[in-house]
Amino acid sequence: MLTDVTTNDSHFRRLELRTVQTADWLQDLIFPPTCGHCGRVDFRFCPSCLYELEQVPMAVSRLRDQAFGELCATGGHCGVVQNAVQAFKYDGARELAIPLADRLVEALQILNPPIDALVPVPLFADRLTERGYNQSELLCRNLALKTGIEARPTLLKRIRETSQQALLSEVDRRKNVRDAFAASADVMGLSVLLVDDVATSGSTLRECAKALRNQGAGLIYGIAVSHSLSSDWIPQEEDDEYQHSWRRDQNLGGA
Ligand SMILES: [Zn+2]
Repeated sequence: MLTDVTTNDSHFRRLELRTVQTADWLQDLIFPPTCGHCGRVDFRFCPSCLYELEQVPMAVSRLRDQAFGELCATGGHCGVVQNAVQAFKYDGARELAIPLADRLVEALQILNPPIDALVPVPLFADRLTERGYNQSELLCRNLALKTGIEARPTLLKRIRETSQQALLSEVDRRKNVRDAFAASADVMGLSVLLVDDVATSGSTLRECAKALRNQGAGLIYGIAVSHSLSSDWIPQEEDDEYQHSWRRDQNLGGA
């Protein structure tokens, strides 16, 4: 019986994927996509802009926050990185998960944190259906392939709908995501790296960390491809306090 259910489930997923692909193909035929960085027609992100993206040097910055062993991003949310993240997140350019995850891999090689599991910031079910994929989960899965660290998206879920953080003030951002996440008891004792595409004030990641900690997670780290252009984000080379490695003496009572 279980086999039948699994087979049907897998068949349904294949059918669903094919339907999404057909819908994407039809939409591209009627409304040809344009490159998210240069506007070239017939690409969501064209090869020359991809090359430009790959040349952007790492500029790891950190946000000081007691909720995390470390919270960092690979560079500012501007220029080709910003346009790549936007195309990846909103315009269906799923293939950008690979070069964007490469940036995360490079940052992790510099910082070398002790991690047991990679956990994407989850989307609410309705948003996932609307978008067709969770961009953070795609990043996580590519990161897992390249680092050998297991991606565990089921450790965390979003339990209510929230507004888009980018459109809100700092105070409203905190309210918007308060208690919006719940973690699985399976996270007990694990060191976790939360993965997201963009971090602004860190409110979303902080709420995710709170949910994970409530279920007994060990050290919690956070990483994003890009960060908002705020002075709260401190470039690594200017950061005397965290000069050498990720902190392992996290204050678990923080946040
Ligand atoms: Zn382009």
